[in-house]
Amino acid sequence: MPHETVAVIGGGPAGLAAAQAASDLGAPVVLIEQGDALGGTPIAESYASLTPHLESAETVLGRLVQRLEASPHTDILLGAQVTACTGDVGHFELQVEMGATSRTVSCGAVVLATGFQHFDPGRETQMYGYYEFPDVIALQDLEAMIKAGSIAKPSNGQAPRRLCFVQCVGSRDRQIGNEYCSKVCCGVASKEAIEVRLLLPECEVFIFYIDMRMYGYWESQIYWPAQERHHVQYVKGIISEVLPKGDQLLVRGEDTTMGRPMEILMDMVVLSVGMEPSPGTRAMAGVLGVEQNSYGFIAAAHPPLDTVSTSRPGIFAAGAALGPADLEDCASTGAAAAARAVSVIRSVPAAG
Ligand SMILES: Cc1cc2nc3c(=O)[nH]c(=O)nc-3n(C[C@H](O)[C@H](O)[C@H](O)COP(=O)(O)OP(=O)(O)OC[C@H]3O[C@@H](n4cnc5c(N)ncnc54)[C@H](O)[C@@H]3O)c2cc1C
Ligand code: SF4
Repeated sequence: MPHETVAVIGGGPAGLAAAQAASDLGAPVVLIEQGDALGGTPIAESYASLTPHLESAETVLGRLVQRLEASPHTDILLGAQVTACTGDVGHFELQVEMGATSRTVSCGAVVLATGFQHFDPGRETQMYGYYEFPDVIALQDLEAMIKAGSIAKPSNGQAPRRLCFVQCVGSRDRQIGNEYCSKVCCGVASKEAIEVRLLLPECEVFIFYIDMRMYGYWESQIYWPAQERHHVQYVKGIISEVLPKGDQLLVRGEDTTMGRPMEILMDMVVLSVGMEPSPGTRAMAGVLGVEQNSYGFIAAAHPPLDTVSTSRPGIFAAGAALGPADLEDCASTGAAAAARAVSVIRSVPAAG
């Protein structure tokens, strides 16, 4: 008999969606999360509020976690890592290490949902001084400030009077090999810009962009309100470097609409860093023996209509492990991966 259980690796938005969908389909689920809490990067990195309704990340993800915790036949393993995977579809054995103990999880299929990490803006090709100048921060640092209800210059604790976002840091960059667009950072920067304007109405907010890439309904939900209601100023330009000047930052680049060099003083600079595969995604690709694409994300075996199958039968992937994704993508691919996992188990012959 095949094992009925679906193992889900990663307890972020995609893993939670997958676990919930598999459980709704009546399958026993084992959810394996390396951290000590569920919710994924939005909780671990203290994101403030989420698109489209600016509802708190804890509330949105808390609802998913509570529903899952109440699901029958769902086993949640925290502080757990998969170290080996043997067998094949219908008959996998996962070796799971949890601190000093270990256990074997027998499952018929696996959903890999190990997510992303933020691009490190301190890489040598980046000229923005993330590690040199305290008032140069990244999207996730501003999220944590907004969540704490206090946006202040790390250098002196004062509220900024001028703050700008620099788009496409670590994305759409051939020099570093990340040619892809990270999908969410135009929307997230615009959402954070609105939050800054709400918390600090006196602060001028600029977004320097190559071109704005709003995702689906975010155009009307975030982009236009940011400009029309909250007076966020969008400037088409490429920022080449950030330098200290007195207690401010000199942002240098080119205004591409006007076709001329640009220099502008800011109190804080926020780098819109892109998404890269998490270390867990890279490691699990090796442990589970599934192919990665040239960027290190899990390669979907049959796009465009099957986005969740991997190169190994019975192993599916979901969310940002597959590439840049927003929460709606995570909910969709999580549910799709779970449906495929349950159906593949149910199609394995009993004698197999
Ligand atoms: C600053 C910022 C703000 C954002 N705000 C929004 C927003 O408002 N709206 C929106 O739609 N999207 C937003 N996003 C995108 C959103 O965060 C992602 O779409 C989402 O977090 C991806 O979910 P995931 O489950 O695929 O991965 P993750 O959230 O990265 O979760 C992966 C989980 O897997 C676990 N894991 C990793 N490796 C292992 C392993 N080996 N074993 C076990 N567990 C493992 C991790 O601990 C983590 O819990 C934002 C992104 C950024 C950068
Ligand atoms: S979403 Fe916007 S900021 Fe992010 S990589 Fe794409 S174009 Fe650049």
